[in-house]
Amino acid sequence: MSSDPQKLQCHCFRMKIKKDTLEFILGVSKKFHPNEFGGLLRGKNDIIEEVLIIPASTFGKKFVTTRFDMIPIDYSIIGSVHSHPGHRFKPSNADIRFFKKTGSVHLIVRYPYRGIEDVAAYDRDGKKIDLEVLDKKH
Ligand SMILES: [Zn+2]
Repeated sequence: MSSDPQKLQCHCFRMKIKKDTLEFILGVSKKFHPNEFGGLLRGKNDIIEEVLIIPASTFGKKFVTTRFDMIPIDYSIIGSVHSHPGHRFKPSNADIRFFKKTGSVHLIVRYPYRGIEDVAAYDRDGKKIDLEVLDKKH
């Protein structure tokens, strides 16, 4: 527990995601479809390594109703992920309000959840950032 939350406010405009993590996100999004899936991202520096699924009771059409008391206190959380069961990537105003409170990188996965082409990354202001997939060799 030596992490300093300030350090995690990275202003990088390129994020990386482990291939396994990406596949996990796509799989869970498919499973929840046509409902929205939501989770928190864990990682180090500019690499997204893991997803924490937000407890099932909080799922529904309104991701912003997430119960913050259910989210474990964990400073390795660097952002969030949620699915858009429609085709749109664009974060809603509610999404952006949530982004500002939840870290520095936010992924939106859109239907049909095929691969990296259906994943977009945003910063806390809802500005698009680059996302690169890391395969196992890294
Ligand atoms: Zn959304």
